[in-house]
Amino acid sequence: MVQYERFLFFQSFAKILIIAMLKLFNTLTRKKEIFKPLRDKKVGLYTCGPTVYWHAHIGNLRTYIFEDILKRILIYNGYKVKHVMNITDVGHLTSDEDTGEDKVEKAAREKKMDAWKLAEFYTKAFKKDLQRLNIIEPEIWCKATDHIKEQIDLIRKLEKKGYTYIIEDGVYFDTSKLKDYGKLAGLRKVKQLAGARVEVVPGKKNPADFALWKFTPPGVKRQMEWDSPWGRGFPGWHIECSAMSMKYLGETFDIHCGGVDHIPVHHTNEIAQAEAATGKAFVKYWLHGAFLVLKEGRMGKSEGNIITLEDLVKRGFHPLAFRYLCLTAHYRKRLVFSWENLEAAQRGLESLVYFVQEIYQKNRLKRKNRKIRNYQKKFLEFINDDLNIPRALSLAWQVSRDKNLSQREKYFLLSDFDKIFGLRLNKVKPLKISKQVQKLLKKREVLRKEKKWQEADKIREQIQKLGYLIEDTPKGPKLKARLEKILS
Ligand code: AMP
Ligand code: ZN
Repeated sequence: MVQYERFLFFQSFAKILIIAMLKLFNTLTRKKEIFKPLRDKKVGLYTCGPTVYWHAHIGNLRTYIFEDILKRILIYNGYKVKHVMNITDVGHLTSDEDTGEDKVEKAAREKKMDAWKLAEFYTKAFKKDLQRLNIIEPEIWCKATDHIKEQIDLIRKLEKKGYTYIIEDGVYFDTSKLKDYGKLAGLRKVKQLAGARVEVVPGKKNPADFALWKFTPPGVKRQMEWDSPWGRGFPGWHIECSAMSMKYLGETFDIHCGGVDHIPVHHTNEIAQAEAATGKAFVKYWLHGAFLVLKEGRMGKSEGNIITLEDLVKRGFHPLAFRYLCLTAHYRKRLVFSWENLEAAQRGLESLVYFVQEIYQKNRLKRKNRKIRNYQKKFLEFINDDLNIPRALSLAWQVSRDKNLSQREKYFLLSDFDKIFGLRLNKVKPLKISKQVQKLLKKREVLRKEKKWQEADKIREQIQKLGYLIEDTPKGPKLKARLEKILS
């Protein structure tokens, strides 16, 4: 009997341990798996970065937010994360495959700009977007054009091992030489996709074969081109990610992410290149974020309906309202964007921020009691369950309403949860109204009593410019700081 009780005790203890463990859905195995890093407490994370020929759109940004949440969860679990993100400034063709023009070269030609300057401009714009969304910067940024040598070396390795062939258009990877080519997407899917490709490069041996190095066409002068053992040209799009990720994270590393569109081609080909070259497994866990779509369907440059972060800001939204919106949907579910959704998200964010402002505590909580530990346990359980952020967010709201918690306890918990949400709640300080604003408010009240509405409105505008909103209540006007003022 004693033994049986002991067994029950250990069983429930093990259950708690498993619940608290970080579990991630791995595209490679199509299963939720318990995360075990390759090296104790250190995690290598590679996330495919932007192609810098235009602004990132809010679909791209959704993926970067999902990756940021993942990184924050790893840190919350006590891991030290080495995060690498690339900047694609060469080689990504308009077809997303091996035909068409280089996106950066094309944009530079159309804008009559220097390709290098154009790439630099959109790289800066991208970094500004990340900062506005409170996305933690990667430990390492790497540009494709800074790693031409590494890419050529990797192609040479593949050539030596017999995985390449040369045609008029460039050096290609022979996918038929790799037994498990396409394992990430499931082979059948890749074959279907390959068959469906419209433009086929003449001389390609198999539909799924892809370019490692493209030659500059005769008579053409590209702005970005390099000499190589095979001829002057530029690297294919996929080779940069294999070369740079292995340079900074080793031949086998922990986690690689991107949007779901990368599964059948880009990531499939990254795996092919890396594993053919090293003979080792490339990545242990592959995580993919679902798309953000519009009500009308896909958002794309060819559809002419791209929305950028700046577009949201111009319409009066706070960038973190978009982050909040992303928190409300699980990363593996499609998120249908609409202006109404964003408005609801902004209201949600405002309520949370104003609530935290109300309960602000200067002094830290000294001792965690059971209530707090229980909430933290639940929170960890949700975020560690393959990033269940929607549930974690509703737990935060539950905390805000819980009558059994003191303001200090609530403040502690919400600040703790925000390590994952990243809504900058740590920036929220009690409302302070300057003498200048107080004076203006009094003046406005006098004008309103005298029914001088237009003049009163002008003062309201002045107050707004100083960062405050006025809410007229039956008890008189109430001031609130604008989100920009609180969260910047
Ligand atoms: P790109 O600049 O096209 O290489 O894309 C950058 C990242 O955004 C990649 O991880 C893509 O998979 C991802 N992405 C592209 N479109 C969307 C979308 N509509 N929703 C979510 N992620 C996307
Ligand atoms: Zn990539």
